[in-house]
Amino acid sequence: MDRWDTIVVGSGSGGLTAAVALARAGQRVLVLEQHYLPGGWTHSFALDGYRFSPGVHYIGELGSGEGVRALYEGLGLSADLTFHELHPDGFDHFVIGGERFDVPRGFDRYFERLVSRFPHERKGLERYFDVVGRIVSDTLRCEDLLVSPRGALALPFRGKSLAAWGLRTRVRRILVESGRAAGVELASGERILARAVVSNADPAITFGALLEPPHGDRERRKIRRVEYSAGLLSVFCATDLDLPAMGLDSGNYWWYRTFDVNGVYERALHALPHGIVEGLFLTVTTLKDPGHAPNGHHTLELFTFVPYEPFEDWAGNAAARPAGYHDLKERLGDAMIAAAERVIPGLGKNLTFRAVGTPLTNDFYCETHRGASYGTAKIPAQLGPFSFPIRSSVPGLYSVGASTLSHGVAGAATSGLFAARDLLGLRRIEDLLAPSDGSLQVVLASDLAPASGARRPAHAAPLEDDADDALAS
Ligand SMILES: Cc1cc2nc3c(=O)[nH]c(=O)nc-3n(C[C@H](O)[C@H](O)[C@H](O)COP(=O)(O)OP(=O)(O)OC[C@H]3O[C@@H](n4cnc5c(N)ncnc54)[C@H](O)[C@@H]3O)c2cc1C
Repeated sequence: MDRWDTIVVGSGSGGLTAAVALARAGQRVLVLEQHYLPGGWTHSFALDGYRFSPGVHYIGELGSGEGVRALYEGLGLSADLTFHELHPDGFDHFVIGGERFDVPRGFDRYFERLVSRFPHERKGLERYFDVVGRIVSDTLRCEDLLVSPRGALALPFRGKSLAAWGLRTRVRRILVESGRAAGVELASGERILARAVVSNADPAITFGALLEPPHGDRERRKIRRVEYSAGLLSVFCATDLDLPAMGLDSGNYWWYRTFDVNGVYERALHALPHGIVEGLFLTVTTLKDPGHAPNGHHTLELFTFVPYEPFEDWAGNAAARPAGYHDLKERLGDAMIAAAERVIPGLGKNLTFRAVGTPLTNDFYCETHRGASYGTAKIPAQLGPFSFPIRSSVPGLYSVGASTLSHGVAGAATSGLFAARDLLGLRRIEDLLAPSDGSLQVVLASDLAPASGARRPAHAAPLEDDADDALAS
């Protein structure tokens, strides 16, 4: 086989965006992914007839003229994506210490709602919204929060020049010839050559494991100083409760046991919950996309932060972890469901399915660094110019993804565009995109029939398990 133009290691949002942009520019691109499903955190999987999408609960900037719409339309992906607007009167519901605050769509409405709830805080809120508004107008627009009902970003580009190499294809080494990235070596030992390599593996993996010293020494020195984001405990479950009748909607729920939210996070980052989970993200995914479950059932995804260390001893041998690990997972799952009952009374007794994931599960399926949910910790000293650079110290090797430009589906995708721009020697990322033509389908909440019980769309294919070993690790 001739050299590929570019090999992309990993098919997350950053890797796939780089791959599609390069292929659109005429390159021959090969994407290699260690999981059997593409997408990284944006993949979705089916278990027991239910579909779950762990890393996409909302995406912004999909309104007319906004950045993420321009990105998907500009890459020619409109025909493969449909988005549904989340509940416009509360795309986020904060339930804190027994009180509830719903975040409505639009900065002005959000501001007015906060001021009417906290009138004595008006001045502080004005200052806060002014700062955020200026950041947003320069960088990100946060209005129009919408979510993709199809969950996974399936490999959407059907051009001749973009290929995916089977699944479960692990890269174990990035090859360097004459000081330049020259291809990869697979876990099977096979070598594939390319003129450039874009790595969507986290920099801790790219430079810590895939690249042999002295190449990448500069990044390895940085890795020693960098702080990573926390790991997660996840519960993927289903119920036959009529959740809309109980008042739930497509907004995401953030529940905290007490008003001391910082204390909740502090405690979560240092110890496993022993019986009590104090903070929880909960979302009913069938209220965004009824196709996630059979009629009359709802799928839910629950997450809370946990430290990595208590799981560390089990990190090796993902295929056969001992009973102690599985017992701990189930105990933690019980504590998560008990917390979720504060939002959905009776949930525990009405579950039709439940699977629990830990930071080790994140490592296994998404090849995270020590279970980290969002790559590097998003602290000021590690943002923007202080994050991992896209253009690496090794000519021809580029890094994309959550530990580079920005995390989130859109942030990681944008890092992919930057890598493609640099690799092709272009000046602007706009040069990679066709003009935005308004073709992306966005279904407004007002256009949907009122939800009572989940209804599976007639066109939806039956759900089959994607993985018989799913969440076994
Ligand atoms: C629970 C959770 C909820 C989230 N919710 C949202 C949300 O609602 N909205 C939002 O915008 N963002 C959300 N995010 C964040 C967002 O999903 C991620 O930041 C983004 O998808 C990461 O993309 P990435 O480009 O870094 O690639 P990743 O998703 O990290 O993918 C990297 C890929 O590379 C592969 N890989 C790594 N090493 C190798 C190797 N050696 N060989 C082959 N393949 C390899 C991995 O298997 C993986 O598939 C969420 C994240 C989490 C954890």
